[in-house]
Amino acid sequence: MRRMAADAVTMDKIVALCKRRGLIFPASEIYGGIANTYDYGHYGVLLKRNVIDAWWQAMIGDRTDIVALDSAIIQHPRTWEASGHLAGFTDPLVDCKTCGQRFRADHLGELACGRKPSKHPGETPECDLTEAREFNLMFETTIGPVKEAGATVYLRPETAQGIFLDFKTVLGFARKKPPFGIAQVGKSFRNEITPGNFVFRTLEFEQMEMEFFVPPDKAQQWHEHWLKERLDWYVRLGIRPDYLKLRPHDADELSHYSSATSDVEYLYPIGWSELEGIANRGDFDLTQHAKFSGEKLEYFDTASGERYVPHVVEPAAGVGRTMLAALCDAYDEDEIGGEQRTVLKLHPRLAPIKVAVLPLVRKDGQPELAREVFDSLRGQLQAEYDEGGTIGRRYRRQDEIGTPYCVTIDHQSLEDRTVTVRDRDTLEQDRVPIDDLPATLGARLASPWESPKLAAA
Ligand code: ATP
Repeated sequence: MRRMAADAVTMDKIVALCKRRGLIFPASEIYGGIANTYDYGHYGVLLKRNVIDAWWQAMIGDRTDIVALDSAIIQHPRTWEASGHLAGFTDPLVDCKTCGQRFRADHLGELACGRKPSKHPGETPECDLTEAREFNLMFETTIGPVKEAGATVYLRPETAQGIFLDFKTVLGFARKKPPFGIAQVGKSFRNEITPGNFVFRTLEFEQMEMEFFVPPDKAQQWHEHWLKERLDWYVRLGIRPDYLKLRPHDADELSHYSSATSDVEYLYPIGWSELEGIANRGDFDLTQHAKFSGEKLEYFDTASGERYVPHVVEPAAGVGRTMLAALCDAYDEDEIGGEQRTVLKLHPRLAPIKVAVLPLVRKDGQPELAREVFDSLRGQLQAEYDEGGTIGRRYRRQDEIGTPYCVTIDHQSLEDRTVTVRDRDTLEQDRVPIDDLPATLGARLASPWESPKLAAA
């Protein structure tokens, strides 16, 4: 096996692979697609589920100071007044009167002009840009059967606010006291104008957010804790540490609620970009919602008699951006026996399919035995059975979706009930008795794992 390049990945290759193998593809394609919106196919759904599971594991499996929540997407409209989103969740936009296109005023240098793709908006003599206007990113809709008489509501632009609205309720039954967290995963919606770079920026996207409520004097300490913890989480998912970094926000970048924010950034093919934001939100949100709702949103410590509004540290991650980072990081090309191979060296925990079961030929009792092996594995692991096409093509297919192991049933299997187990990364094959397979594969998938790209470096 020969490696092709130090880093062969490009965004176009990822987009093509995701489409070819049905992981992620443009939504509404039969109608020509819809801007910055994608659908997830079978393997994409499995990969997405694995990312979310790994996040829940880190939040509520590995620790006892966080509880889960699933709040509504459409909340009372006052929510967004209190949070500051109605007034301030905006991008500056300009329209071009010549080409009719709309651009983010702060991204003109990266965008292509509607008429001359080699130029940026405003650069050609024909460009006629308006003054920048603030454009709110929240999607509006109406509750009630008559649009005019209904109440205007918003699709949430972040999951965090639902957590603040439920703070008092959760505190009442969770039997927790600060420091403690409330975590949620769910869809958020933003009317993004900037071209998306695949699933990096989409109109609807899943967020994994956790609000960690702490005594005010402990906020900085917990902020540092979560910076380290969240960066480590990506490394534990097999992403190369030198492709990850923490970037503190400059003072002029900070959101209105934040006293300190650092982003976890990944070196995507488009350059270093945000994967996750980790903010110290202070008491901004609870104080605002207390003011707007009239409810007391504070913590009373019966032991010390102390009453205070907790401060909040928030790690806010995106599922799509995590998937994209994992895909870019895992993408590799090499050459086997003169043939080029594309492979996703995904961490086994993220791999959509853990093991594929393949009869070498579709005759001589091999498919029957392979089915038996498949049935013995599929209750324990996400397994796939495939008997169509040459064995080489079936291996290539599994390599491209990142399946760590292929189990092949051949003529010898019928004689001695052993099978070959092929390792996606090393391409080594060894023979394992069928009866030992569940235990052997379970152990190999669970063993400490390091990015093969890192190991090869
Ligand atoms: P950006 O500056 O890139 O627009 P942001 O700072 O506005 O992102 P946050 O509000 O901090 O993003 O949201 C937390 C996380 O949610 C981001 O780190 C990202 O992973 C994800 N996210 C935000 N907006 C989008 C989007 N339009 N599409 C996909 N994921 C998103």
